[in-house]
Amino acid sequence: MPELPEVEIVTRALSRKLKGRSILEHRVHHPGVLLHDPHAGLGGPLRRFERGERHGKYMVLEFSSEQRLVVHLRMTGAFYFRDSDTPLQPHTHVEFQLDTGEWLAYRDPRRFGRIWWLSPNSSTNPLADLGPDALRLSQPEWVARISERSRMMKPLLLDQAVIAGLGNIYVDELLHRSRIHPQRAADSIPAARLGEMWSACRELLRLAIRNGGSSIRSFVDTDGILGNYQNFHLVYAREGEPCTTCGTLIKRIVVAQRGTWICPRCQRRR
Ligand SMILES: [Zn+2]
Repeated sequence: MPELPEVEIVTRALSRKLKGRSILEHRVHHPGVLLHDPHAGLGGPLRRFERGERHGKYMVLEFSSEQRLVVHLRMTGAFYFRDSDTPLQPHTHVEFQLDTGEWLAYRDPRRFGRIWWLSPNSSTNPLADLGPDALRLSQPEWVARISERSRMMKPLLLDQAVIAGLGNIYVDELLHRSRIHPQRAADSIPAARLGEMWSACRELLRLAIRNGGSSIRSFVDTDGILGNYQNFHLVYAREGEPCTTCGTLIKRIVVAQRGTWICPRCQRRR
C-alpha cells in the first residue's frame, strides 16, 4: 500500500509528464473510482496542468482552469501512460486523454482508490480532516502533537488526523529506528526522544523516496518500475531475521489489529 514516499514518487512523475498539458477527454471504464462533487455539478475542463502537490497520502493535481484532481491510491491504485495503439491494462477504471494524444490511465485491482474531480466551488474536500504532512511539520509541532496524547505510539502515528503520510511500513521502521515499542504510551516518551524521532522520520522518508519507495505487494511508479526500498527495511516483514543492531530475531506482534514487526531487545515495552 503506497505511503508518503510512494505517493511522492508518483506525484513527481505525474508533475513532470503532465507539465503544461491539457486533458481533452476522459473515459470511465468502471464507475465508482472517479467522483464528482454532486453539489458543484460536473467538473469543468482540465486545461493546462500547473502543478502536482502531495499532502500525506493524497495527491493534488492542479490545472490552470482551476480544476483539481485529488487522488488517493489506497491499496493498489497506480497510473500509467499509453498511446492509442497500446491495449488497456486489466483493472483500468478511468483514463484521461492528453493533448499529445497519449492517455493517462488509472488501474486499481482492489478498486479502493479514489479520484475526486473538484471545481473551485466544490464543497467536498477530501483533505479536510488530515493532520500536517509528516515531511512538512516542524520539530516542535511533531513533539507537541505526539506528547499531548496518551494513546499507544503505533495507532497514533497511523492516525492521519494526527500526522499525515505514515502507514504500516514506515511506522514500524520509524519506531524501530527510534528504539520505541509500538505499544508504548505517547505521553510517556521524553520530548528529547520525540525530537530525535522527528529527525529519524525525515531521514527515513527521504531515503525511501531516493530509493524509489517500497514495493511490497504491487507498488510501481508511472513507468511500471518497482521501488527498491523494501530491500532496506530493518524490521518490516522480516520476522525471524536478525536485528541489524543487536542480532536478536525480529518478532511479529499485532498492535491495533495491524501486523507489526519489532526487535524485542531494541524496542522494549517498559
Ligand atoms: Zn535489536
